[in-house]
Amino acid sequence: MSNDRVLNICFHGVGEPQRELEPGEDVYWVTADRFAAILDEVSTWPVPVRLSFDDGNASDVEIGLPALVERGLTAEFFLLAGRLDTPGSVDSAGVAKLRSAGMPIGSHGMAHRSWRGLSAAETTAEFDTARTVLAEAAGAPITTAACPLGRYDRRVLSALRDRGYTRIYTSDRRPARSGAWLQPRYSVRHHDTPASMRSGVLAPAPLPARARALAVGTVKRWR
Ligand SMILES: [Zn+2]
Repeated sequence: MSNDRVLNICFHGVGEPQRELEPGEDVYWVTADRFAAILDEVSTWPVPVRLSFDDGNASDVEIGLPALVERGLTAEFFLLAGRLDTPGSVDSAGVAKLRSAGMPIGSHGMAHRSWRGLSAAETTAEFDTARTVLAEAAGAPITTAACPLGRYDRRVLSALRDRGYTRIYTSDRRPARSGAWLQPRYSVRHHDTPASMRSGVLAPAPLPARARALAVGTVKRWR
């Protein structure tokens, strides 16, 4: 039934931004302390959790990577080809660091724009050129993508499928099935805490299991 359920959790920026943010983007930046606390929290959950980082901020490598390595965790990094090697974003050396630590790299496209309603030229840039640029930086093929701004429609998905992308991540805030092509994620937001992650992300999924465990007094084993 829910055996293959997985919770995908997505981080964006951590700490102080080193570039000018897009309107509304600050909602997705968390402090380094909060980031560490949420990482500690979700890594103890009694359900499979998959971590990812969007936007290719410099904090991916400066703060995210060491925190993951310290905890023996892995995350997939969805980088923006158009921001590679620009101030405040991951540079080529950073991509190499992520790769050598075993972190998969995926595409977040070229220009951080919605993938809905793209022209033919924009489609090529977002789905083909971006993938090529990132594959060169990563030294490995790019087969996964995360939709910028969480926006997509049927046309976007079929274009990605036609191009052989093996897994697409969204921001639809619901549990995913581990093997599914389309993977909803929960984005961590500025106000999130370990408690809000528990109540907003973990609790809706395994409630029956938790209730059962409480009934038989085994809940402590999960802490
Ligand atoms: Zn993004």
